[in-house]
Amino acid sequence: MSDNGFCVGQMAACGDAKRSVDSVYRLAWTGCRLVEIGLFNQPAFDGFNPTDVASMKKALRHTGVSVNSIHSAFGPGTDIGSPDARDRAAAVLLQKQTVLLAADFGARFIVVHPSTYGDQPERRARIEAAADSMAEMTEFARAHGVTLALENMLGTVIGNCEDELFEIIGRADPEYCGICFDIGHANLLQRLPELARALLGRTVTTHLHDNNGKEDQHLYPGAATIDYATFGRIFRQTGCKASLIIESRKNGTDDWESVEANMLGLLGWN
Ligand SMILES: [Zn+2]
Repeated sequence: MSDNGFCVGQMAACGDAKRSVDSVYRLAWTGCRLVEIGLFNQPAFDGFNPTDVASMKKALRHTGVSVNSIHSAFGPGTDIGSPDARDRAAAVLLQKQTVLLAADFGARFIVVHPSTYGDQPERRARIEAAADSMAEMTEFARAHGVTLALENMLGTVIGNCEDELFEIIGRADPEYCGICFDIGHANLLQRLPELARALLGRTVTTHLHDNNGKEDQHLYPGAATIDYATFGRIFRQTGCKASLIIESRKNGTDDWESVEANMLGLLGWN
């Protein structure tokens, strides 16, 4: 936590265990103290493989880096809003296992997608199913001191707007269930100010990156079109206390102090 009361961290590089663990060491070497660990992008760090978990825990112990959040797996077989009862049960079980992993890593949050990407018929039924799943997962997360963070989506994917997101978290305990605000997704919808005003009051963690407004490029914050100053102003107005997690492929520097200074400048907090 800085003097200004914010924490800046970064998504560790996604990939297999070696790549993810190396990324934690590399970020620590630059001065980064906080990371998000992703369980997606095959071959992914396998949070359920004891060897992978042990090597990550060793890296965290050696570097003193904290885990802000674990980004749950997404894609086929992980849809918490699946209309197929068996598929949905499997997806909920996977999220519960991810909660246990988060507790083991001392992570405060797990980031959850409301649905899988792609064509989605039966939108209403899927939103209802996802809301039931979130309520059940949140009960489990609460018992383990972990908070779920539902991520706002892009394009036409379920969870691309505030109404659907609020409906999906609406049956869950609000103390252990909030939003992961993805600034890039909001920018792609050209609704950044509206979504920020609607969601930051319930936002517990973030994904900060940049794009050209057309493709989900995951560029370093400030490298493209996103209006960080407006976001920073609304963030303060809503009293948001969310962690600031950079979700870009590169942070453009080996010096974490300049990453934080860049973020402060963009947000207009300097
Ligand atoms: Zn994201």
